[in-house]
Amino acid sequence: MNYKVNDRGYYGNFGGAYIPEMLYPNVEELRNNYLKIISEEGFKKEFYDLLKNYVGRPSPLYFAGRLSQKHSTKIYLKREDLCHTGSHKINNTIGQILVAKRLGKQKIIAETGAGQHGVATATVCALIGMECTVYMGKVDMERQKPNVERMRILGAKVVPALSGNMTLKDATNEAMRHWINNPTDTHYIIGSVVGPHPYPDMVARFQSVISEEIKKQLEEQEGNPYPDYVFACVGGGSNAAGAFFNFLDDEHVNLVAVEAAGKGINSGESAATTALGKPGVLHGSKTLLIQTEDGQVIEPYSISAGLDYPGIGPIHSHLFEVGRAKFVSATDDEAMDAGIGLSKLEGIIPAVESAHAIAALDQFQFDKDDIVVVNLSGRGDKDLETYIRWGKY
Ligand SMILES: *Cc1c(COP(=O)(O)O)cnc(C)c1O
Repeated sequence: MNYKVNDRGYYGNFGGAYIPEMLYPNVEELRNNYLKIISEEGFKKEFYDLLKNYVGRPSPLYFAGRLSQKHSTKIYLKREDLCHTGSHKINNTIGQILVAKRLGKQKIIAETGAGQHGVATATVCALIGMECTVYMGKVDMERQKPNVERMRILGAKVVPALSGNMTLKDATNEAMRHWINNPTDTHYIIGSVVGPHPYPDMVARFQSVISEEIKKQLEEQEGNPYPDYVFACVGGGSNAAGAFFNFLDDEHVNLVAVEAAGKGINSGESAATTALGKPGVLHGSKTLLIQTEDGQVIEPYSISAGLDYPGIGPIHSHLFEVGRAKFVSATDDEAMDAGIGLSKLEGIIPAVESAHAIAALDQFQFDKDDIVVVNLSGRGDKDLETYIRWGKY
Protein backbone atom coordinates (compact mmCIF):
# COMPACT_ATOMS: atom_id res chain seq x y z
CA MET A 1 0.00 0.00 0.00
CA ASN A 2 1.26 3.48 -0.84
CA TYR A 3 0.57 6.17 1.74
CA LYS A 4 2.50 8.99 0.13
CA VAL A 5 1.33 11.34 -2.58
CA ASN A 6 1.49 10.17 -6.21
CA ASP A 7 2.80 12.35 -9.04
CA ARG A 8 -0.68 13.66 -9.81
CA GLY A 9 -1.06 14.91 -6.26
CA TYR A 10 -3.37 12.16 -4.99
CA TYR A 11 -3.42 10.02 -1.89
CA GLY A 12 -5.69 7.19 -3.08
CA ASN A 13 -9.01 8.87 -3.86
CA PHE A 14 -8.12 12.17 -2.20
CA GLY A 15 -6.05 15.24 -2.97
CA GLY A 16 -5.48 16.87 -6.36
CA ALA A 17 -5.50 20.57 -7.19
CA TYR A 18 -9.02 21.93 -7.67
CA ILE A 19 -8.22 25.56 -8.30
CA PRO A 20 -9.55 28.43 -10.36
CA GLU A 21 -7.74 28.93 -13.66
CA MET A 22 -6.34 32.24 -12.41
CA LEU A 23 -4.35 30.43 -9.68
CA TYR A 24 -2.96 27.78 -11.99
CA PRO A 25 0.37 29.51 -12.81
CA ASN A 26 1.24 30.04 -9.11
CA VAL A 27 0.46 26.48 -8.08
CA GLU A 28 2.14 25.07 -11.17
CA GLU A 29 5.34 27.04 -10.45
CA LEU A 30 5.40 25.59 -6.95
CA ARG A 31 4.63 22.06 -8.13
CA ASN A 32 7.40 22.16 -10.72
CA ASN A 33 10.01 23.39 -8.25
CA TYR A 34 9.31 22.30 -4.68
CA LEU A 35 10.94 18.86 -4.72
CA LYS A 36 14.02 20.12 -6.53
CA ILE A 37 14.39 23.02 -4.08
CA ILE A 38 13.91 21.07 -0.86
CA SER A 39 16.34 18.35 -1.88
CA GLU A 40 19.21 20.79 -2.59
CA GLU A 41 22.07 20.53 -0.12
CA GLY A 42 22.08 24.31 0.44
CA PHE A 43 18.37 24.29 1.26
CA LYS A 44 18.68 21.40 3.69
CA LYS A 45 21.60 23.02 5.44
CA GLU A 46 19.76 26.32 5.91
CA PHE A 47 16.52 24.58 6.97
CA TYR A 48 18.14 22.29 9.54
CA ASP A 49 20.38 25.07 10.82
CA LEU A 50 17.34 27.28 11.53
CA LEU A 51 15.43 24.36 13.07
CA LYS A 52 18.34 23.81 15.42
CA ASN A 53 19.44 27.32 16.33
CA TYR A 54 16.24 29.33 15.88
CA VAL A 55 13.41 26.87 16.67
CA GLY A 56 15.37 24.91 19.28
CA ARG A 57 15.21 21.48 17.68
CA PRO A 58 15.44 18.62 18.24
CA SER A 59 12.48 18.98 20.57
CA PRO A 60 12.86 16.60 23.53
CA LEU A 61 11.23 13.18 23.64
CA TYR A 62 10.28 13.10 27.29
CA PHE A 63 9.44 9.90 29.20
CA ALA A 64 6.35 10.89 31.17
CA GLY A 65 6.71 8.72 34.27
CA ARG A 66 3.58 9.64 36.17
CA LEU A 67 1.36 9.64 33.09
CA SER A 68 2.81 6.23 32.22
CA GLN A 69 1.93 4.94 35.67
CA LYS A 70 -1.64 6.14 35.25
CA HIS A 71 -2.01 4.13 32.02
CA SER A 72 0.20 1.19 33.12
CA THR A 73 2.46 1.51 30.09
CA LYS A 74 5.41 3.57 28.77
CA ILE A 75 4.40 6.98 27.45
CA TYR A 76 6.71 9.48 25.80
CA LEU A 77 5.72 13.05 24.97
CA LYS A 78 7.21 14.64 21.85
CA ARG A 79 7.66 18.19 23.05
CA GLU A 80 6.64 20.37 20.10
CA ASP A 81 5.30 22.71 22.78
CA LEU A 82 8.91 23.76 23.41
CA CYS A 83 9.46 25.03 19.85
CA HIS A 84 9.89 28.79 19.30
CA THR A 85 6.41 30.41 19.08
CA GLY A 86 4.91 27.52 21.05
CA SER A 87 3.97 24.82 18.57
CA HIS A 88 4.98 22.71 15.57
CA LYS A 89 3.66 25.33 13.13
CA ILE A 90 7.05 27.05 12.84
CA ASN A 91 8.62 23.94 11.22
CA ASN A 92 6.40 24.51 8.19
CA THR A 93 6.64 28.29 7.97
CA ILE A 94 10.44 28.15 8.02
CA GLY A 95 10.44 25.56 5.24
CA GLN A 96 8.01 27.53 3.10
CA ILE A 97 9.71 30.89 3.44
CA LEU A 98 13.02 29.32 2.35
CA VAL A 99 11.21 27.91 -0.70
CA ALA A 100 9.69 31.35 -1.39
CA LYS A 101 13.12 32.95 -1.23
CA ARG A 102 14.49 30.48 -3.78
CA LEU A 103 11.53 31.13 -6.08
CA GLY A 104 12.51 34.81 -6.01
CA LYS A 105 9.41 35.98 -4.11
CA GLN A 106 9.51 39.18 -2.08
CA LYS A 107 6.17 39.06 -0.31
CA ILE A 108 4.32 36.56 1.83
CA ILE A 109 0.61 36.17 2.44
CA ALA A 110 -1.15 33.80 4.82
CA GLU A 111 -4.56 33.18 6.31
CA THR A 112 -5.14 32.50 9.96
CA GLY A 113 -8.04 31.42 12.17
CA ALA A 114 -7.04 31.70 15.79
CA GLY A 115 -3.83 33.46 14.83
CA GLN A 116 -1.28 30.73 15.56
CA HIS A 117 -0.32 30.20 11.92
CA GLY A 118 -0.38 33.97 11.41
CA VAL A 119 2.11 34.44 14.24
CA ALA A 120 4.37 31.65 12.94
CA THR A 121 4.28 33.27 9.48
CA ALA A 122 4.90 36.81 10.77
CA THR A 123 7.83 35.40 12.77
CA VAL A 124 9.62 33.89 9.78
CA CYS A 125 8.93 36.99 7.66
CA ALA A 126 10.71 39.08 10.27
CA LEU A 127 13.50 36.49 10.36
CA ILE A 128 14.09 36.57 6.59
CA GLY A 129 13.06 40.19 6.02
CA MET A 130 9.99 39.76 3.79
CA GLU A 131 6.81 41.80 3.68
CA CYS A 132 3.98 39.91 5.41
CA THR A 133 0.22 40.24 5.00
CA VAL A 134 -2.06 38.02 7.07
CA TYR A 135 -5.79 37.71 6.33
CA MET A 136 -7.94 37.07 9.35
CA GLY A 137 -11.73 37.07 9.77
CA LYS A 138 -12.93 40.21 11.52
CA VAL A 139 -14.74 38.09 14.14
CA ASP A 140 -11.55 36.10 14.79
CA MET A 141 -9.56 39.35 15.14
CA GLU A 142 -11.88 40.40 17.93
CA ARG A 143 -11.72 36.98 19.63
CA GLN A 144 -7.91 36.67 19.37
CA LYS A 145 -6.58 40.15 20.13
CA PRO A 146 -3.22 39.09 21.63
CA ASN A 147 -2.27 37.19 18.46
CA VAL A 148 -3.29 40.15 16.28
CA GLU A 149 -0.96 42.36 18.32
CA ARG A 150 1.83 39.76 18.22
CA MET A 151 1.66 39.75 14.41
CA ARG A 152 1.75 43.57 14.35
CA ILE A 153 4.71 43.73 16.72
CA LEU A 154 6.50 41.32 14.37
CA GLY A 155 5.88 43.74 11.52
CA ALA A 156 3.00 42.01 9.71
CA LYS A 157 -0.05 43.73 8.27
CA VAL A 158 -3.26 42.06 9.49
CA VAL A 159 -6.17 42.49 7.07
CA PRO A 160 -9.70 41.80 8.32
CA ALA A 161 -11.86 39.53 6.12
CA LEU A 162 -15.32 41.07 6.04
CA SER A 163 -17.24 38.51 3.95
CA GLY A 164 -19.31 35.49 5.07
CA ASN A 165 -19.08 34.61 8.76
CA MET A 166 -15.86 36.65 8.94
CA THR A 167 -13.85 33.63 10.13
CA LEU A 168 -11.18 31.29 8.73
CA LYS A 169 -12.93 30.22 5.52
CA ASP A 170 -13.45 33.86 4.55
CA ALA A 171 -9.85 34.77 5.39
CA THR A 172 -8.74 31.91 3.11
CA ASN A 173 -10.88 33.26 0.26
CA GLU A 174 -9.36 36.73 0.67
CA ALA A 175 -5.82 35.33 0.70
CA MET A 176 -6.53 33.35 -2.50
CA ARG A 177 -7.90 36.50 -4.15
CA HIS A 178 -4.79 38.43 -3.18
CA TRP A 179 -2.59 35.69 -4.61
CA ILE A 180 -4.45 35.69 -7.93
CA ASN A 181 -3.81 39.42 -8.21
CA ASN A 182 -0.12 39.22 -7.24
CA PRO A 183 1.15 36.00 -8.81
CA THR A 184 4.75 36.90 -9.57
CA ASP A 185 6.13 38.45 -6.39
CA THR A 186 4.06 36.69 -3.70
CA HIS A 187 4.13 33.28 -2.02
CA TYR A 188 1.11 32.01 -0.09
CA ILE A 189 2.14 30.10 3.07
CA ILE A 190 -0.62 27.57 3.88
CA GLY A 191 -0.57 26.42 7.50
CA SER A 192 -1.52 22.74 7.41
CA VAL A 193 -1.50 19.66 5.13
CA VAL A 194 -4.44 21.13 3.21
CA GLY A 195 -4.87 23.11 -0.02
CA PRO A 196 -4.10 22.14 -3.61
CA HIS A 197 -1.23 19.81 -4.45
CA PRO A 198 1.70 20.27 -3.77
CA TYR A 199 0.89 21.98 -0.44
CA PRO A 200 -0.20 18.89 1.52
CA ASP A 201 2.93 16.99 0.52
CA MET A 202 5.26 19.96 1.00
CA VAL A 203 3.90 20.70 4.48
CA ALA A 204 4.01 17.01 5.48
CA ARG A 205 7.65 16.85 4.43
CA PHE A 206 8.56 19.91 6.51
CA GLN A 207 6.72 18.50 9.53
CA SER A 208 8.23 15.02 9.04
CA VAL A 209 11.21 16.21 11.09
CA ILE A 210 8.99 15.29 14.07
CA SER A 211 8.96 11.54 13.31
CA GLU A 212 12.55 11.65 12.06
CA GLU A 213 13.55 12.82 15.53
CA ILE A 214 11.21 10.41 17.35
CA LYS A 215 12.94 7.49 15.62
CA LYS A 216 16.42 8.66 16.61
CA GLN A 217 15.37 9.49 20.15
CA LEU A 218 13.62 6.16 20.71
CA GLU A 219 16.66 4.34 19.37
CA GLU A 220 18.76 6.18 21.97
CA GLN A 221 16.36 5.80 24.86
CA GLU A 222 14.79 2.38 24.17
CA GLY A 223 17.26 0.76 21.77
CA ASN A 224 14.46 0.48 19.19
CA PRO A 225 13.28 3.22 16.82
CA TYR A 226 9.73 1.91 16.54
CA PRO A 227 6.97 2.79 19.00
CA ASP A 228 3.85 0.65 19.31
CA TYR A 229 1.59 3.69 19.08
CA VAL A 230 1.81 7.29 17.89
CA PHE A 231 -1.00 9.63 18.96
CA ALA A 232 -1.61 13.09 17.49
CA CYS A 233 -4.52 15.53 17.32
CA VAL A 234 -5.90 16.48 13.91
CA GLY A 235 -7.18 19.88 12.83
CA GLY A 236 -6.00 20.07 9.23
CA GLY A 237 -3.55 17.37 10.20
CA SER A 238 -0.02 18.79 9.92
CA ASN A 239 1.34 17.77 13.33
CA ALA A 240 -0.18 14.31 12.87
CA ALA A 241 1.24 13.99 9.35
CA GLY A 242 4.67 14.95 10.71
CA ALA A 243 4.45 12.52 13.63
CA PHE A 244 3.25 9.65 11.37
CA PHE A 245 5.35 10.33 8.25
CA ASN A 246 8.41 8.16 8.90
CA PHE A 247 6.29 5.32 10.31
CA LEU A 248 3.72 5.07 7.49
CA ASP A 249 5.31 2.00 5.92
CA ASP A 250 5.97 0.31 9.29
CA GLU A 251 2.57 -1.33 9.66
CA HIS A 252 3.35 -2.59 13.17
CA VAL A 253 3.33 1.01 14.41
CA ASN A 254 -0.26 1.92 15.31
CA LEU A 255 -1.13 5.44 14.22
CA VAL A 256 -3.92 7.16 16.14
CA ALA A 257 -5.43 10.43 14.91
CA VAL A 258 -7.59 12.30 17.40
CA GLU A 259 -10.32 14.63 16.15
CA ALA A 260 -12.30 17.16 18.15
CA ALA A 261 -15.79 15.91 18.95
CA GLY A 262 -16.74 19.30 20.42
CA LYS A 263 -19.93 18.91 22.46
CA GLY A 264 -20.36 15.35 21.12
CA ILE A 265 -20.28 13.82 17.65
CA ASN A 266 -24.06 13.97 17.24
CA SER A 267 -24.58 17.29 19.03
CA GLY A 268 -24.45 19.40 15.89
CA GLU A 269 -21.43 21.16 17.42
CA SER A 270 -18.43 19.09 16.46
CA ALA A 271 -15.37 18.99 14.24
CA ALA A 272 -15.02 15.18 14.00
CA THR A 273 -14.50 15.04 10.24
CA THR A 274 -14.09 11.30 9.67
CA ALA A 275 -17.16 10.53 11.79
CA LEU A 276 -19.39 13.13 10.10
CA GLY A 277 -17.77 13.98 6.75
CA LYS A 278 -18.34 12.94 3.15
CA PRO A 279 -16.00 13.44 0.18
CA GLY A 280 -16.05 16.95 -1.21
CA VAL A 281 -13.73 19.70 -2.37
CA LEU A 282 -12.42 22.28 0.07
CA HIS A 283 -9.60 24.81 -0.38
CA GLY A 284 -8.35 23.15 -3.53
CA SER A 285 -8.31 19.46 -2.66
CA LYS A 286 -10.71 16.54 -2.59
CA THR A 287 -11.08 15.30 0.94
CA LEU A 288 -13.54 14.36 3.66
CA LEU A 289 -15.60 17.33 4.64
CA ILE A 290 -18.44 18.10 7.06
CA GLN A 291 -21.20 19.31 4.75
CA THR A 292 -24.95 19.51 4.20
CA GLU A 293 -26.87 17.16 1.85
CA ASP A 294 -26.30 19.61 -1.01
CA GLY A 295 -22.61 20.08 -0.32
CA GLN A 296 -22.47 23.33 1.67
CA VAL A 297 -19.75 23.39 4.32
CA ILE A 298 -21.13 23.15 7.86
CA GLU A 299 -19.42 25.47 10.38
CA PRO A 300 -17.44 23.16 12.66
CA TYR A 301 -17.13 23.63 16.39
CA SER A 302 -14.45 22.78 18.95
CA ILE A 303 -13.31 24.42 22.16
CA SER A 304 -9.84 24.50 20.60
CA ALA A 305 -9.46 26.99 17.76
CA GLY A 306 -6.78 24.89 16.06
CA LEU A 307 -9.06 21.86 15.60
CA ASP A 308 -12.07 23.86 14.49
CA TYR A 309 -11.80 22.98 10.77
CA PRO A 310 -14.52 21.34 8.62
CA GLY A 311 -12.14 19.07 6.70
CA ILE A 312 -8.86 17.18 7.10
CA GLY A 313 -5.86 17.02 4.80
CA PRO A 314 -6.20 14.50 1.95
CA ILE A 315 -3.44 12.31 3.38
CA HIS A 316 -5.64 11.71 6.44
CA SER A 317 -8.77 10.98 4.39
CA HIS A 318 -6.69 8.31 2.67
CA LEU A 319 -5.21 6.88 5.89
CA PHE A 320 -8.76 6.71 7.27
CA GLU A 321 -10.24 5.10 4.16
CA VAL A 322 -7.62 2.35 3.92
CA GLY A 323 -7.49 1.86 7.69
CA ARG A 324 -3.77 2.66 8.13
CA ALA A 325 -4.56 5.14 10.92
CA LYS A 326 -7.23 4.72 13.54
CA PHE A 327 -9.40 7.82 13.93
CA VAL A 328 -10.94 8.53 17.32
CA SER A 329 -12.26 11.69 18.92
CA ALA A 330 -12.32 13.51 22.23
CA THR A 331 -14.99 15.95 23.39
CA ASP A 332 -14.36 19.42 24.82
CA ASP A 333 -14.94 18.04 28.34
CA GLU A 334 -12.59 15.10 27.88
CA ALA A 335 -9.86 17.33 26.42
CA MET A 336 -10.11 19.95 29.18
CA ASP A 337 -9.97 17.25 31.88
CA ALA A 338 -6.95 15.70 30.16
CA GLY A 339 -5.21 19.08 29.87
CA ILE A 340 -5.65 19.78 33.56
CA GLY A 341 -4.70 16.19 34.37
CA LEU A 342 -1.43 16.46 32.44
CA SER A 343 -0.65 19.78 34.13
CA LYS A 344 -0.93 18.18 37.57
CA LEU A 345 0.75 14.87 36.68
CA GLU A 346 3.71 16.16 34.68
CA GLY A 347 3.94 19.93 35.20
CA ILE A 348 3.14 20.55 31.54
CA ILE A 349 0.16 22.71 30.59
CA PRO A 350 -0.67 21.60 27.04
CA ALA A 351 -2.41 23.49 24.27
CA VAL A 352 -6.08 22.52 24.27
CA GLU A 353 -5.52 20.97 20.82
CA SER A 354 -2.80 18.69 22.19
CA ALA A 355 -4.96 17.85 25.21
CA HIS A 356 -7.30 16.01 22.81
CA ALA A 357 -4.47 13.58 21.99
CA ILE A 358 -3.84 13.02 25.72
CA ALA A 359 -7.57 12.46 26.32
CA ALA A 360 -7.69 9.69 23.72
CA LEU A 361 -5.26 7.56 25.79
CA ASP A 362 -8.23 6.66 27.99
CA GLN A 363 -9.86 4.83 25.08
CA PHE A 364 -7.03 2.28 24.81
CA GLN A 365 -5.86 -0.70 26.84
CA PHE A 366 -2.07 -0.84 26.57
CA ASP A 367 0.37 -3.61 27.48
CA LYS A 368 2.85 -2.64 30.17
CA ASP A 369 5.78 -2.90 27.73
CA ASP A 370 4.13 -0.90 24.97
CA ILE A 371 5.89 2.26 23.85
CA VAL A 372 3.39 5.02 23.28
CA VAL A 373 4.38 8.38 21.82
CA VAL A 374 2.00 11.33 22.08
CA ASN A 375 2.81 14.33 19.93
CA LEU A 376 2.36 17.33 22.20
CA SER A 377 1.73 19.82 19.41
CA GLY A 378 1.74 23.01 21.46
CA ARG A 379 1.83 24.75 24.82
CA GLY A 380 -1.11 26.04 26.80
CA ASP A 381 -0.04 29.65 27.32
CA LYS A 382 -2.30 30.82 24.51
CA ASP A 383 -5.21 28.93 26.10
CA LEU A 384 -5.08 30.39 29.58
CA GLU A 385 -8.44 32.15 29.06
CA THR A 386 -10.02 28.85 28.00
CA TYR A 387 -8.67 27.07 31.08
CA ILE A 388 -9.86 29.89 33.33
CA ARG A 389 -13.36 29.88 31.82
CA TRP A 390 -13.45 26.08 32.19
CA GLY A 391 -12.58 26.61 35.84
CA LYS A 392 -12.56 23.02 37.17
CA TYR A 393 -8.98 22.77 38.41
C1 LIG B 1 -2.80 24.72 14.73
C2 LIG B 1 -2.59 23.74 15.80
C3 LIG B 1 -3.04 22.40 15.70
C4 LIG B 1 -3.84 21.90 14.53
O1 LIG B 1 -3.22 21.94 13.30
P1 LIG B 1 -2.70 20.62 12.57
O2 LIG B 1 -2.39 21.09 11.18
O3 LIG B 1 -3.81 19.62 12.60
O4 LIG B 1 -1.50 20.14 13.30
C5 LIG B 1 -2.76 21.53 16.73
N1 LIG B 1 -2.09 21.93 17.83
C6 LIG B 1 -1.66 23.19 17.97
C7 LIG B 1 -0.93 23.56 19.21
C8 LIG B 1 -1.89 24.14 16.98
O5 LIG B 1 -1.46 25.41 17.14
